[in-house]
Amino acid sequence: MIRKAGALALVVSLFLGLWVTCPVQAWGGLRVLDSSVQAEFPSSLSFNLSAESDADITDIRLHYIVDRVSFATITSEVYIEFMPGTEVDVAWAWDMRKTGGLPPGSGVDYWWTVEDASGDRVETARTTVQFDDKRYSWRSLTEGEVTIYWYKGGLSFAHELMATAQEALSRLNEDTGAYLEEPAELYIYADAQDLRGAMIYPQEWTGGVAFTQYGTIAIGIAPGNLEWGKRAVSHELAHLVIHQMTSNPYSGLPTWLDEGLAMSAEGPLELEFTYFLNEAIAEDSLISVRSLASPFSAYAGQSYLSYAQSYSLVEFLVDNYGQDKMLQLLNTFRQGSDYDGALEKVYGFDMDGLDALWRDYVTGHSGQLTVVTTVMPLRNITKTLVAVVVVLAVVFLLAVGLLIERWAWRRGR
Ligand SMILES: [Zn+2]
Repeated sequence: MIRKAGALALVVSLFLGLWVTCPVQAWGGLRVLDSSVQAEFPSSLSFNLSAESDADITDIRLHYIVDRVSFATITSEVYIEFMPGTEVDVAWAWDMRKTGGLPPGSGVDYWWTVEDASGDRVETARTTVQFDDKRYSWRSLTEGEVTIYWYKGGLSFAHELMATAQEALSRLNEDTGAYLEEPAELYIYADAQDLRGAMIYPQEWTGGVAFTQYGTIAIGIAPGNLEWGKRAVSHELAHLVIHQMTSNPYSGLPTWLDEGLAMSAEGPLELEFTYFLNEAIAEDSLISVRSLASPFSAYAGQSYLSYAQSYSLVEFLVDNYGQDKMLQLLNTFRQGSDYDGALEKVYGFDMDGLDALWRDYVTGHSGQLTVVTTVMPLRNITKTLVAVVVVLAVVFLLAVGLLIERWAWRRGR
């Protein structure tokens, strides 16, 4: 420990944690002898303070600020309980299992205030502790506003993910004019199990998560799962951009818009989603745009359809009304508009109007199977139908097989 006034902050990795000490400060007879913090990612930050004075020390408070995107800086203040005395050692642990965790790489600024019975008061210098996941040896690759951190796989693995991330940003920019306004940090864990080890009470299905307020994404990508990983990177990165573009203290985005833009950033809609969409069109069981404004159903089939419809709704708006209008829509949401009001203002129709126009658009685009059977001579219909049923059955089995994994990540948004 450093007990000399004016010493520089010392940073030492200790086991899995991090030990930071602060400059010692004194005022009158009151002296802070030592201040330190130990990080145990992902579960706790433990703050320690030693102080002495000629009079009894009576009041000690810890102040901290978490570095994240917010509309007002929130300073938390912790009143430390201790026995007053002329020499005190106090500790306070931020137990993330009780409050929810922070993403890897978060910064927490903190300082102490100490008072004694004679009225002397000391405030320690503001210090930043990095809440890093020290269990792995991270490498990093930066391009533009995107940094990828990874520890398993070679440089080519990171380059491939970076190329995917940049493509997703370009695609999103073409569709919407949106771009990353703040840096994005992507933590690529070696698999879903490692990722879950970095989270507080993770769900079994968690495959990736976007901490939009922190500009951080964490995804578990196993070597044999790169294609899925690339889609997950694109999807979660789009959520970050959209969040940066539209966040305001008043209102959020309709879920179909947020998810539709994230799906579009991935590239063309995947087969299993197309299957659910075409089936719902054929059976006239599409979900209303108004329902899709709320969080999606937890049932897998309905969830697939919700994502597929969201993709299709965004495609409809971009194809028919262009990038400018989509950018206007996002800017309108940024000002804190309600869903119907924003659509009315930019497009001249509300969610019900969008629902009607989009249904016309999508039913006009979806008749491939019907067209095949109607133009066939009569004797071929049975054969064709059998072929169609077989194809649909295979698609369905594929969809169900991929379901758990896809679903896992989709829910992890
Ligand atoms: Zn999503």
